Amino acid sequence: MIGVVIVSHSAKLAEGVVELASQVAQDKVRVAAAGGTSDAANPIGTDAFRVLAAIDAVDSGDGVLVLMDLGSAVLSAETAVEFLDEARRSRVRLCGGPLVEGAIAAVSLAAAGGSLDEIAAEAEHALSGKAGATRGSDPKGTPDEGVRPTSRQVTLRNRLGLHARPAARMIRLARRFDARVTLENLTAHAGPFDAASLNGMLNLRARQGHEVLLRAEGSQAREAIAELAGFLASGCGDTEDADAPQPTPTPVSATADDGISGIGASAGIAIGPLVRFRAVVTDVLQRPAGDPESEWRTLQSALEAARNETRTLYDWARKHTSENEAGIFDAQSLLLEDPELIEQARRLVFEDGRDAASAWHSAAGALTGRLAAIDDPYLSARAADLSDVAARVLERITGTTGATISLSHPAIVAAHDLMPSQVEKLDSALVLGLCLETGAANAHSSILARARGIPAVVGLGLTLSTIAEGTIVAIDGERGKLWVSPGEDARRSIEERRRACLTARQSLQADRKVPAATRDGRHITVLANLSSEAQVIEALDNGAEGVGVLRTEFLFLDRKTAPDEAEQFACYRNIAEALGDRPLVIRTLDIGGDKNVPYVDIGAESNPFLGWRGIRVTLGRRDLFETQLRAILRAGRGRAVEILLPMISTLAELIEAKAIIGSVEDALQREGVAFQAKMPVGVMIEVPAAAVIADRLAPEVSRLSIGTNDLVQYLMAADRTNSRVARIADHFQPAVLRVIRDMVNVGRSAGIGVDVCGEMAADPLAAPLLLGLGVEELSMSSPLIPEMKRVIARWTMPAAEALAREALQAQSSESVRQLLRGYGRAI
Ligand code: PEP
Ligand code: MG
Repeated sequence: MIGVVIVSHSAKLAEGVVELASQVAQDKVRVAAAGGTSDAANPIGTDAFRVLAAIDAVDSGDGVLVLMDLGSAVLSAETAVEFLDEARRSRVRLCGGPLVEGAIAAVSLAAAGGSLDEIAAEAEHALSGKAGATRGSDPKGTPDEGVRPTSRQVTLRNRLGLHARPAARMIRLARRFDARVTLENLTAHAGPFDAASLNGMLNLRARQGHEVLLRAEGSQAREAIAELAGFLASGCGDTEDADAPQPTPTPVSATADDGISGIGASAGIAIGPLVRFRAVVTDVLQRPAGDPESEWRTLQSALEAARNETRTLYDWARKHTSENEAGIFDAQSLLLEDPELIEQARRLVFEDGRDAASAWHSAAGALTGRLAAIDDPYLSARAADLSDVAARVLERITGTTGATISLSHPAIVAAHDLMPSQVEKLDSALVLGLCLETGAANAHSSILARARGIPAVVGLGLTLSTIAEGTIVAIDGERGKLWVSPGEDARRSIEERRRACLTARQSLQADRKVPAATRDGRHITVLANLSSEAQVIEALDNGAEGVGVLRTEFLFLDRKTAPDEAEQFACYRNIAEALGDRPLVIRTLDIGGDKNVPYVDIGAESNPFLGWRGIRVTLGRRDLFETQLRAILRAGRGRAVEILLPMISTLAELIEAKAIIGSVEDALQREGVAFQAKMPVGVMIEVPAAAVIADRLAPEVSRLSIGTNDLVQYLMAADRTNSRVARIADHFQPAVLRVIRDMVNVGRSAGIGVDVCGEMAADPLAAPLLLGLGVEELSMSSPLIPEMKRVIARWTMPAAEALAREALQAQSSESVRQLLRGYGRAI
């Protein structure tokens, strides 16, 4: 390979040019700087020995081009050459071409395999393109070679021709130049197509032996042609191995020790074939289109998010598999930048008034269809890759749709993300486990997986996309691990662990119905969080002493209209009846954030968790609120039912909600309908503002119910569904502990109950801490109740209080965790 030396009076200038040229050369061409002098007092100048050293550094035997600036640079370079022996001297060319443009032209051509003389000539005249471009903009000027279209014909050498991976690489190369390049397949009579379009490149159907005509125009047309022609002629960088079609990237296989790490979201171990779940688009198509500008913005931000993900995936695959396998993700990310595809989607939005999702679906579907129809098994197989990445965009636009996951055989379901309603409807006989790219332990889908006893690992990131459908995977939902194609030994040890977990779980069953109490006899009320009527029997069976939160929104999700009063009444009443005289806390509709319904227009929000959510929605939609309150007040007649208001952040919201409850009572009274008068009303402490004014809220309510999932999210400003901030959104953060302590104190002063109903209440590690902080009611997913009772029974109140005192002094969530682990072992 030919090397390039940059000689300049300024060391900085020479190094800067080398930096620039190396960027273009991409490790394919050696470039060295020989700038300045070694005299610190007079650094500006040139030095023959520096030039000689630089020639030595880049000379691999094929020749060296020395580009010089002015005056003594020429002299120093000539002197340096004098020191070389005859043979080496003959392969060095001195060149007075422009330093920057010459260096770029030289390395571009050198990378493409140009000869030393060609490279020297290219560098010498490198300014002509620029000069031409400048003159070309002058109406009186005459365009010269630099702006005139330039072309070259190349025969493709590699076996599979311009398939997706080299096409992607070529597009990246083409984009480096200020030139518009087109390609035409003269053999197959296809094109010309824009070299910036993956769609175009694939439609070129350029195979081994085909003649391809490259044309370029623009200020760097010549450089672009030289670079791209070199790339095509050299076999597109394909190795023989790389030519073999590889439809699906092979994941790294893992042993039991080195599984892929994610976030443990629901304990349990599962092993089985992986089935990928993607958004189903039919539901998307029913969405009414909004204003075209906002639909277009939605599509653009979904594309950007999908591009970022695909690039991350590419980087990951390069590190963990091979450049060749990673190439398909490069091709996928280029599809997301494809000008034709994007233009087509844009037209559908602006001209046909389509919504973002359906416009994208149609445009991408048409392209995928065209690819699938290409008479070439390799290229048509790429249609699957493209529909995969297109689905990724759809998921960004729609969230995953309401589509249900239906399996024909037991499997571990992998998805980008799942909506809570989708987890709710999983067939637990067939879904052995869940793996999600996104998510965090406190996202509603994780909470539901726990409630349903489905092992889950979330926040696995894009590695999950690299695992082929049908691959056997194993997950450990407690440790947050995923193993791909585990070998014999790994499988055995995973299987053993699975059995041990099951045995441990069974051993907990014996005492589950006994009320929870500490060793020194303090009764702790352990309640269940429910999200459906069906769960109440299981909750009682698991030993729940009542229901701490009925998440009523689950009755509202995944349907086209809201449940009417009769339906709600029946649901609440059935649960109340099943509970007998045990308490039932019914939380009013808490939608928004990660839970949306089609009949409440939340609108596009950039921060849904900070937007129209919980009580804000119900106060704005009195119709929904009043219907629900009527159903609750009626269902609670003669039963221990309480109302719980979610997402309260101001006293005014509470007062307004209570006034509405009062007016609904009046209406029922007037109508002569039986209902429970003076039903207790509690508030969730989720928003930091509510915690700060808890002493003002307390006189108005019957309980403060600490929703740690949201409290942690808002207190720490860390999205509960974002795996990247999961470490910050930790319920052991000192700030969270202080708020819990303060809420207990406020509750005690006001003489009202304080409970924790967020996922912290279900964390066995947190149990003694909460007891020590004074919390005497815990509400959790019912499968976790037996274990929690067992943990509580190991502690005494003085020990728990000592632990809490110490934890309150800790500096970080990590030290709180450490402390709890230490105490846990000692106990
Ligand atoms: C909470 O925020 O802690 C809570 C219990 O409510 P949800 O998880 O339903 O938001
Ligand atoms: Mg909440």
